[in-house]
Amino acid sequence: MPVYYCPDCGGELRYELNTKLYVCKACGRVYEFEELKTTRERFLKSVMESDEEKKKRQRREVVKWWLGKKSEGE
Ligand SMILES: [Zn+2]
Repeated sequence: MPVYYCPDCGGELRYELNTKLYVCKACGRVYEFEELKTTRERFLKSVMESDEEKKKRQRREVVKWWLGKKSEGE
């Protein structure tokens, strides 16, 4: 079983067999598996997108915005 970490504080999560819930050892928050899975996927996606890609996208959006402004005025 993979080890999960608390999306809130980064603490290690302990799996409770009888409740089928993950409990954070550090802050005590409780997570359902589905909740944890979506949070993990979102986190991995944000990590995979490097800073360089983020910058590129931001630049593109600025250009799009600027071009949009320009054509509106004409
Ligand atoms: Zn926690």
